[in-house]
Amino acid sequence: MSILDINKIRKDFPILDEKVNGRDLVYFDNAATTQKPSIVLDALANYYGHYNANIHRGIHFLAEKATSAFEDSRTTIQKFLNAAHKEEIIFTYGTTDGINLVAQTYGRKFLKEGDEIIISTLEHHSNIVPWQMLCAEKGCVLRVIPIDDKGDLILEEYEKMLSEKTKFVSVVHVSNALGTINDVKFIIDKAHAVGAKVLIDGAQASSHITIDVQALDADFYAFSAHKLFGPTGMGVLYGKSDVLNAMPPYRGGGEMIKEVTFEKTTYNELPYKFEAGTPNIADVVAVKFAIDYINDLGKENIAAYEDELLKYATEQLSDISGLSIVGQAKEKVSVVSFVLDGVHPQDVGVILDQQGIAVRTGHHCTQPLMNRLGLPGTSRASFAVYNTKQEIDKLIAGIHKVKKMVL
Ligand code: PMP
Repeated sequence: MSILDINKIRKDFPILDEKVNGRDLVYFDNAATTQKPSIVLDALANYYGHYNANIHRGIHFLAEKATSAFEDSRTTIQKFLNAAHKEEIIFTYGTTDGINLVAQTYGRKFLKEGDEIIISTLEHHSNIVPWQMLCAEKGCVLRVIPIDDKGDLILEEYEKMLSEKTKFVSVVHVSNALGTINDVKFIIDKAHAVGAKVLIDGAQASSHITIDVQALDADFYAFSAHKLFGPTGMGVLYGKSDVLNAMPPYRGGGEMIKEVTFEKTTYNELPYKFEAGTPNIADVVAVKFAIDYINDLGKENIAAYEDELLKYATEQLSDISGLSIVGQAKEKVSVVSFVLDGVHPQDVGVILDQQGIAVRTGHHCTQPLMNRLGLPGTSRASFAVYNTKQEIDKLIAGIHKVKKMVL
């Protein structure tokens, strides 16, 4: 039994009162994006309603208030990741943006023809394509850590791949498609032993796992606010300050400069060097409230409860004949992907939707992983702290209905 009061938590998320197709909404698409608690919605309205102003350069009251709320968020995130310095927190538009930043700045400056970049079979497209683009430009070689049939990385193969040619490793912390939790500490240590830098895609990990970038010794860690009860269009790239300092800026414009003349521009210090233009002020301000919300509930409590949901769902789904769970890694977060014999995942999604149940179907932006598994796609239920076992019962009943209707 969880020590969290789930009914009380559900009241914090107004969207959970919505009806979909005449039924109570059952939202099991949390790996795509999580719902937002009132405290985050209020923070957005409060910012726009009471202290909307552009930040940093203003000397008037509103500008100072907005700047201070904006920078408070940075401090909150620094603590959330246990980063050593506040300036190591770069605001981005999301995980994708953070990975592109690193590929386009660190990658273009430090990687050259013949250098090897290692990713894994579990990667989301956003941690594949930026590296392919870099490889096409620089003549680097992309190598891919294989997985076993359960969805765990084969780390012995990773160790064999590492050599003095390895210059960068970019690996997902938690798979969005299968829920696999990777041993990123091991991956980082082995990469560092050959002198490579490491980026961890924390898009899925940030809401489920306590992250300590110093203990991990990650060079870069990227995540998106919208996966942890925060707004869309806002993300974070953590980078070690010495590495970030050595990198050229990403985008040019206001805020990222120290001095501009037509002959020459000098760049601002961290973190502003990487934050050109007016940032996403409202969403940055609001993410602090999302993280405070998580901290108040306690990440361990959230993880323990989600684990209960995962176990329950796994047991219940396993009892359905013709249903196979895809991805049975040793360590998983609360994501269950499954396929139903003779039924296309899209049909599963459509029929569940008619019953008010939101799941995701398809390749989950992991086409190479689906190819490896020999599947066109899966149906995926992903749970958050506001979900309940009663909702999982509705999913199970819904799948029986799918079978009746299609088979
Ligand atoms: N990596 C993983 C593992 C993800 O799940 C996602 C989002 N589905 C991303 C990267 C990309 O995140 P965003 O779209 O917020 O940039």
